[in-house]
Amino acid sequence: MKLDVDVLRYLSKDDFRVLTAVELGMRNHEIVPSDLIDRIASLKHGGTYKVLKNLLKHKLLHHDSSKYDGFRLTYLGYDFLAIKTMVNRGVFTAVGRQIGVGKESDIFEVAREDGTVMAMKLHRLGRTSFRAVKTKRDYLRHRSSYNWLYLSRLAALKEYAFMKALEEHGFPVPNAVDCNRHCVVMSLIQGYPLVQVKQLQNPETVFDTIIGLVVHLAEHGLIHCDFNEFNIMIDDDEKVTMIDFPQMVSVSHRNAQMYFDRDIECIFKFFGKRFNLSFEERSDDVDDSEVETEESGRPTFSSITKTAGFLDKELAASGFTTKDQDDIQKFIEGNVAEDDVSDNEHESESCQTNIKGFDSLNLDQILRTIEK
Ligand code: ADP
Ligand code: MG
Repeated sequence: MKLDVDVLRYLSKDDFRVLTAVELGMRNHEIVPSDLIDRIASLKHGGTYKVLKNLLKHKLLHHDSSKYDGFRLTYLGYDFLAIKTMVNRGVFTAVGRQIGVGKESDIFEVAREDGTVMAMKLHRLGRTSFRAVKTKRDYLRHRSSYNWLYLSRLAALKEYAFMKALEEHGFPVPNAVDCNRHCVVMSLIQGYPLVQVKQLQNPETVFDTIIGLVVHLAEHGLIHCDFNEFNIMIDDDEKVTMIDFPQMVSVSHRNAQMYFDRDIECIFKFFGKRFNLSFEERSDDVDDSEVETEESGRPTFSSITKTAGFLDKELAASGFTTKDQDDIQKFIEGNVAEDDVSDNEHESESCQTNIKGFDSLNLDQILRTIEK
């Protein structure tokens, strides 16, 4: 995806005011009626409509007149709101090249004035999801809060909270710098995803380190749930860093055992195939840890979680609420698409330009965070 941040420079205060008004309107409208945007933004002399045209030209908004005249934010529009906020907070001053395309994210280099380069992850939940089957539609029928904006914001918040907590507990993760909307800024990891690494000096050591991480996480009460060669970075000294945390769960999750075994299995499979490691032989000789293993050398979940953790509970208290966790988990497990969660019938009802809660005070408050 192209992120032409040059446009940022040409956007005025009014542009951001209207963009933010659309964002506010999206709290209860999939498509925000134009007159509602106008009322929220409350620009003088019909100024809103001119600004809307400009924002549309730069692809920051999408226009929809199928049911009524209205707009919604595009990914780019949402990106700009987050980036502007980060720039104003002094987190970074420039956005550089794209360094990663995840399943549900885009990753860019960003830089501070002093030249320090960091990584910015823009979450895009819903991008790869397909039209879910009817049962899923029914299941989410009246939950119009399930849209990509909301889910991407939750994913970012969760990733940031987990990264910070993991770092504080000594796990090799990027340094979590800041988070706003669907955007997480973190330190840039030098190195490559394991999937790109064809040769290792010490594959067995790296393997032990990685399996050790899964076990160590579980001892802290957590399971990564997407622990594979795409989410493990290796540098030239074969130092391991793990990334990508929005799908992590607590060991008390009902499918914890399955997720844990799957994480372990991915690593065993990958190292067996790519580096020809044979595990049966190894399981006899190296076992200086307390962790019980199966004959195949795979650590057993139950032996670890007997003594498990506190970090999952600590995180539950970090502002990332149980409801947040439930919402995002339902999405991840059900892979429910953005389209499938908009409740169209309700939308047309609620578009009677109800502006309760959208007074300009609210808008000014938000704008203070993105305007200088
Ligand atoms: P997704 O959730 O979409 O899979 P990831 O967090 O796994 O996103 O990131 C996708 C890719 O971007 C990674 O495989 C990696 O190549 C790159 N990447 C992500 N975070 C960093 C980082 N902090 N430093 C360097 N590269 C990164
Ligand atoms: Mg990933």
